[in-house]
Amino acid sequence: MSATQPARKPRGRQFFANPGPTNIPDSVLLAGARQTVDFNDPNFVEVYTACIDGLKRVLKTTQNIFLYTGSGHAAWEACLVNLLSPGDAVLIVESGYFSESWAKMAKDLGLEVQTVAADWRRGADPAAVQAALAADRTHAIKAVCVVHNETATGMTLPVQEIRAAIDAAGHPALLLADTISSLGSLDFRMDEWGVDASVGGSQKGLMLHTGMSFNGVSAKAMEAHKTSRLPKHYFNWTNMLARPHKSFVGTVPVSFFYALQESLRLIEQEEGLENVFARHHRLAQAVRAAVQHWSGNNGPQLFCLNPARYSDSVTAILMPEGFNADDLRAVALKRFNVSLGGGLGPLGGKVFRIGHLGDLNEPMILGTLSTVELAMRVAGVPHAPGGVDAAIAALAD
Ligand SMILES: *Cc1c(COP(=O)(O)O)cnc(C)c1O
Repeated sequence: MSATQPARKPRGRQFFANPGPTNIPDSVLLAGARQTVDFNDPNFVEVYTACIDGLKRVLKTTQNIFLYTGSGHAAWEACLVNLLSPGDAVLIVESGYFSESWAKMAKDLGLEVQTVAADWRRGADPAAVQAALAADRTHAIKAVCVVHNETATGMTLPVQEIRAAIDAAGHPALLLADTISSLGSLDFRMDEWGVDASVGGSQKGLMLHTGMSFNGVSAKAMEAHKTSRLPKHYFNWTNMLARPHKSFVGTVPVSFFYALQESLRLIEQEEGLENVFARHHRLAQAVRAAVQHWSGNNGPQLFCLNPARYSDSVTAILMPEGFNADDLRAVALKRFNVSLGGGLGPLGGKVFRIGHLGDLNEPMILGTLSTVELAMRVAGVPHAPGGVDAAIAALAD
């Protein structure tokens, strides 16, 4: 068998192992398949209100929440324009492609961007955040932006340690945390961790379609909002508070809420949030066990070099020198119908990613890992065979 065999039409279901968007459970798909209703219909308002309460429980906040029809980028932008004024400085905690993208957005919006630089394989040190804030004697920095789970590198950053660094510097900056690929997969505690604005999206741990995003907003951030001068209209929280749903300027995307109601039921009632986190940890450990085994024979290795920061929702895997990750992904997809995530930004071709968040179980993970091992064999990528056995051992523990 060679990698150049003519393409066959794949049979069976696709194993979708991207780190977002993620698999949508059948019951969530069906829940969203509803005929149009008026978004002011009392029956819908009841569903809507229950969803808002559920989202707050998952965010672990009792404060404010604002939602947008738009992917995660919309909520990134919304919290910047609602909290800041032209020329304000923001401090970006570098973690990878997503922290870099948020920084670019801030710059495009007319903010001054300062960065706590970091090696993408290790992520920034909270002590460096504290030092940057301590050096900012005039308090020009109005917000610290951190990506809780850097989806590009497979690294989870310690948001609570960033909060502690801000407090230790005695700095009044707001803390903005992106929880797009951690919410509903990894523990995130908005209020307890002192996050002033959290950024979430529909299509990752919440297992919904792409196209809805939201901010959790603290009381302190609502005060800052009152004096913020960046232009805004659709995203303007003050405009939203005047609307009956206290969110959404314009039409409320009703079907998202029927789907969200079901995904919250699965997360909170059928499985339980803490069990969801435990499942993600278990599956992540199996993926890491496989990769660590493969690395034995000059094979692919874990991109993240900091074990304390291994992500339980996505693993980024660095190819051996001279082998292209996208060639391997093409074999997995075209021959075996397994979709893997690619490397983002400068990691393109160097890294592939296995998403292990959302609606996933052991056989799906083992199927994906087996296929990666098969694709490596077909594509002639060096590796130590037996990574799947290592994953099985991790799961049987
Ligand atoms: C996916 C993702 C985003 C971007 O969200 P979109 O929904 O694609 O706009 C931002 N941050 C992180 C950490 C992500 O994983």
